[in-house]
Amino acid sequence: MDVKKELVVKLGKEISVSSNEEIFAALLQLTKELADSKNQKETKKKIYYVSAEFLIGKLLSNNLINLGIYDDVKNALAENGKNIAEIEEVEVEPSLGNGGLGRLAACFLDSIASLGLSGAGVGLNYHLGLFKQVFEDHMQKEKVNPWIEEKGWLRKTDVTYPVSFGNLDVVSRMYEIDVTGYDNRTNKLCLFDLDSVDDSIVDDKNQFDKTDIEKNLTLFLYPDDSDEDGRKLRIYQQYFMVSNAARLVIDEAKAKGSNLSDLYDYAVVQINDTHPTMIIPELIRLLVNEGMNMDEAIEVVSKTCAYTNHTILAEALEKWPRHYLMEVVPQLVPIIEVLDDKVRRRFDDERVAIIDRNDLVHMAHIDIHYGYSVNGVAYLHTEILKNSELNHFYQLYPEKFNNKTNGITFRRWLLHCNKALTETITDWIGDAYKKDAMELEKLLAFKDDSDKIKKLLDIKHQNKVLAKEYFADKQGIELNENSIFDIQVKRLHEYKRQQLNVLYVIRKYLDIKAGKIPTTPITVIFGAKAAPAYIIAKDIIHLILCLQEIINNDPEVNKYLNVVMVENYNVTLAEKLIPACDISEQISLASKEASGTGNMKFMLNGAVTLGTEDGANVEIHELVGDDNIYIFGASSDEVIEHYNRCDYVSRNYYEKNESLKEVVDFIVSDKVLEVGNREMLERLYNELLNKDWFMTFLDYDQYVETKEKAYKDYEDRMEWGKKMIVNIAKAGFFSSDRTIEEYNRDIWKLND
Ligand SMILES: *Cc1c(COP(=O)(O)O)cnc(C)c1O
Repeated sequence: MDVKKELVVKLGKEISVSSNEEIFAALLQLTKELADSKNQKETKKKIYYVSAEFLIGKLLSNNLINLGIYDDVKNALAENGKNIAEIEEVEVEPSLGNGGLGRLAACFLDSIASLGLSGAGVGLNYHLGLFKQVFEDHMQKEKVNPWIEEKGWLRKTDVTYPVSFGNLDVVSRMYEIDVTGYDNRTNKLCLFDLDSVDDSIVDDKNQFDKTDIEKNLTLFLYPDDSDEDGRKLRIYQQYFMVSNAARLVIDEAKAKGSNLSDLYDYAVVQINDTHPTMIIPELIRLLVNEGMNMDEAIEVVSKTCAYTNHTILAEALEKWPRHYLMEVVPQLVPIIEVLDDKVRRRFDDERVAIIDRNDLVHMAHIDIHYGYSVNGVAYLHTEILKNSELNHFYQLYPEKFNNKTNGITFRRWLLHCNKALTETITDWIGDAYKKDAMELEKLLAFKDDSDKIKKLLDIKHQNKVLAKEYFADKQGIELNENSIFDIQVKRLHEYKRQQLNVLYVIRKYLDIKAGKIPTTPITVIFGAKAAPAYIIAKDIIHLILCLQEIINNDPEVNKYLNVVMVENYNVTLAEKLIPACDISEQISLASKEASGTGNMKFMLNGAVTLGTEDGANVEIHELVGDDNIYIFGASSDEVIEHYNRCDYVSRNYYEKNESLKEVVDFIVSDKVLEVGNREMLERLYNELLNKDWFMTFLDYDQYVETKEKAYKDYEDRMEWGKKMIVNIAKAGFFSSDRTIEEYNRDIWKLND
């Protein structure tokens, strides 16, 4: 295909005289046509990945890469004085996800299509999605984030379904976004919506009538659930999502010849966390409406649905009061009661009941009893599920439990975001690694090759310069490209322990003030959104922003240490920061991070991990070996023991540790209070001293010591470069292609 000619036809004029917006629109059209021309034929069995979130990121460049025309487009633009990076800027990042779980769903869709499997993502078309984060007065403020544009990736379809709630009947509409496989087929992301939804009901304080379901249903991802109307709105959303998904599954199976008694030969539904759980009773309800008897319907659905668990944090396992369900989805309640009844007849164990004695419906319990597979998302996580968190269930159904260690798509997290590294690797080992990520191991041959190491160090430096330019332009942030980039970017949560990193920053600041000067300057970079109702998380952001102000404006310190918190961390920013990173902070309290996927992106881009033995860090450690990772902190067994014995008392650590005490006291020192808000800082200080549920103080000493060691090792550039090579070479295991092959081999079995 002559890309230039195609573009000129679409533009109706020369590229050189077209605006970036016009070129984006032309590329959008061209991409959609090419995606259409790819294989879309469906095999008998299809995977439906149902998820409340799809954090897909901008799509233009990834689609061009996957369709094999990125270089042609880039060159055609360059010949006409246009820069593809500027065209990318025209696209608005879709706001359909929140964090790791949504990003995983997006990586999985890419891999499903890239492996040539027929599958679809199913979710909701949130008009405003997740809020946009802005900083005002050193605090997070939430702004609405409208992202749907006239000229975008969404395609309106004619598919509509009636959906009934207790007090309301609506008619849905399906939109689609193309999911282009890498040199392979095209699948769809199916997003359901309501024509009547109206974002003008949201006022400038982000408030809206939570009971006006016809207007608000698909406005926000995770509407505030601190009141009853908000919680019910979440149930409305969840049911709307799964009722549509269930209709789609049944319609498509019937069209392919299913008599529904064999539905599981035509469809597999992967339930991504508990949000889509109601698809189980909904499918049963629809099958019964089609004339199947209840027992058979339950059996058929149980052979069709599989569940992925993403967390062991108790507060994240959803439990809905039965009376909420009675009000919003009364048609499901008798079915859920039958499901509960069957469980109670089989097992005399209150702990595995679906409806508990307080009349709460445990969504995960529905998934485990009535799905045929339960998987965790990293080795350690699955072991914890089997041996402690879900042990009662594991005793009942050992054969259902399996591990699928998460992965990331290398198309986005290497080929797209790190062009220089991609080119260099291709130069060195050819490009087979683009389809078979394990080929990256060939890089190990170069770990003692000083020219190759120099080249890698040089690329890292270039990427720092690119990040510096980007953040100067977009956020007015100054980054020192000659400093160590020490980065922690992820959702803000106490279990991820941004506060531990903050304590280190204070330690370093006080050390520098006392004359202990680092050899190479350090830039500690944070990026994180806090849930709007999560008070302590917002207090932590406040402290980071106060420290940023104090440290970056202190002439004694700012030559050696900078603190930067980027605003509105999202996929687009991740793609700029990760290739520039030296030290990847993965410091969750052991046992709490199910897997993490940020850790994998950093490793792939040649950052060295500083982390706890948690989630997939365990597997990274095993792959790269002790010399190429910095591990610290209590083990998950020790942590679980502390919780069981209730014997962790943060104040004891504070009182016994001079360094820690000095650092913690600094949070409420005059210096910080001068800049910040007393109430927020004192609340955080008290939280740490009196509660510290995620045991920050437990790991403080080891964290400081290990981080100092990493900074010291950084000074030997050749040794550090060797660590970088080993990390990149061993990252192949974390390709989501491997993860999806395992899902297909063990759970979906699409090509049998
Ligand atoms: C990968 C990614 C995440 C997940 O990061 P973790 O460190 O695994 O929590 C969250 N947000 C964005 C934008 C990402 O790209």
